[in-house]
Amino acid sequence: MVSSLYEQALSALKSGGIEDSSFEADVLFEEIFGRDFRLKLLTGQLDRPETEAEAGKLHEMLERRLSGEPLQYIVGRWDFYRGEFSVGEGVLIPRQDTETLVESAFALVKGIKNPRILDLCAGTGCIAITLSELLPDSEVHAVEFYDEAYRYLEKNISEHGSHVIPHKLDVLSEESAKQFTSFDLITCNPPYLTSSDMANLQPEVSHEPETALFGGKDGLDFYRAIPVIWKPAIKAGGYIAFEIGATQGEAVKEILEALGYSDVRIIKDLCGKDRVVTAKLQHVNCVTTGDTL
Ligand code: GLN
Repeated sequence: MVSSLYEQALSALKSGGIEDSSFEADVLFEEIFGRDFRLKLLTGQLDRPETEAEAGKLHEMLERRLSGEPLQYIVGRWDFYRGEFSVGEGVLIPRQDTETLVESAFALVKGIKNPRILDLCAGTGCIAITLSELLPDSEVHAVEFYDEAYRYLEKNISEHGSHVIPHKLDVLSEESAKQFTSFDLITCNPPYLTSSDMANLQPEVSHEPETALFGGKDGLDFYRAIPVIWKPAIKAGGYIAFEIGATQGEAVKEILEALGYSDVRIIKDLCGKDRVVTAKLQHVNCVTTGDTL
């Protein structure tokens, strides 16, 4: 019976050490029996033997999950902000933490008419697509370098019917940055884990691409490079907004201030951890020739 299959799945997840086993069992059952499977269980619509296909699908998903694969890759999509995004091997799974970046970014440009926004290290496109949906008169570009991630970016743009313009480019190359000018806002959730974070990854996170996680020995490589390389792409009076690791706020603030950015703010996420740094670029051409005129 389907109802006893549910109990079996739940106990397999529990004994496999999955923390939130009833939530995960629900997600897997929604995959097979539909979003309203609980209602169907309650109203007796699932008081029937499972088909071979249903049992096979559940078995396969449980096996993948118990081997440490993230639930999100198994179901192939995940919720972020008010939408759903396709995910899978090779792309970072959208996290709730990143909603803080979206909200901080939105607050910076919501008063601007036709804001131009550029999202770097776009991954699934969850930041770019959500901002573009929140700001219908905006022009949003998204840059992603890696093949698999870029495919998810394109897929999500198309599934959302979004106007986001994707670019397959390396954010660490000055050549890439040259093509972009006059942006009101750059957003970026770069890889920011340190070497020691990488050595202690949760098993699920170790299935995600290292290129989306590892930010160099101290996790700060991208915060050093991006504000330099992409500075010419920002308008005078424009902004940059980064997601950061919880202990990186002061270091990122220092980097941005040393590079001539002002109004640097560290913003906390819903758990009270430092999660976002925003800064303003008041003057674009800070030429330092050393000459005193
Ligand atoms: N917040 C992610 C994690 O801790 C890291 C994502 C990133 O490096 N941008 O798993």
